[in-house]
Amino acid sequence: MRKKLLVGNWKMNKTMAETAAFAHASFELLKNANDKNIDIGVTPPYLSLQTLLNINPKLIIGAQNVHHLEKGAYTGEVSIPMLKELGVSWSLVGHSERRTYFNETDASCNLKVLALLENNMTPLYCVGETLQEFEKGVTKEVIKAQIEVGLKGVEDVREVVIAYEPVWSIGTGKNASKEIAEDICAYIRELLRAIYGGNADLVRILYGGSVKPNNIKEYMAMPNIDGALVGGASLSVESYAELINNM
Ligand code: PEP
Repeated sequence: MRKKLLVGNWKMNKTMAETAAFAHASFELLKNANDKNIDIGVTPPYLSLQTLLNINPKLIIGAQNVHHLEKGAYTGEVSIPMLKELGVSWSLVGHSERRTYFNETDASCNLKVLALLENNMTPLYCVGETLQEFEKGVTKEVIKAQIEVGLKGVEDVREVVIAYEPVWSIGTGKNASKEIAEDICAYIRELLRAIYGGNADLVRILYGGSVKPNNIKEYMAMPNIDGALVGGASLSVESYAELINNM
């Protein structure tokens, strides 16, 4: 049985003061989530990680990106040992905004996934097709490459969480239908099963892309969708609370 998971990706939003306000309110969120047997977390900007860890370390607290090397001349980057020192144990990898604006590729994501796993951290690996790829009908080919290249060399896939986020649905209000989301999440599981056998059934696969309190339930009803990666609707405590209530 896979435990449900809700992760809020804050992108480049919230100052440390705003993060502190959310963190103080998050005890109630955590209580409700525990009652419903749901794991919850957020991926804030780097500067807010410490604030969240100080106030409510029981949340899953993840970075939005990592560099795969331990240290070196990489201005502007943050390494895994730096995050570990704070107590951060998760990181997004390959969010579509990182792929689009910062040239991340399946191969560079693979280095990050492997480096996180070597450090006993959880990669939340994001995959998804662009609008052009969706319209050309090549979604499954794109996803196959993202999974096979991005997870190359991973020994224990149970340590990885995957988010299917069609690029055309992120921040656009045009969410994928529950049928499309389920079809691709089931396909991802099938790809994982071909490589990892029965362990594929233990991997949590999230849907992301314009998930809101009023549509999260329909995704959660699908057999291969284990939770959601949510941007805009995770920013306010009220909306986050509604997401939990409706899961
Ligand atoms: C995201 O940032 O991963 C995301 C899915 O954003 P939104 O929910 O705003 O579409």
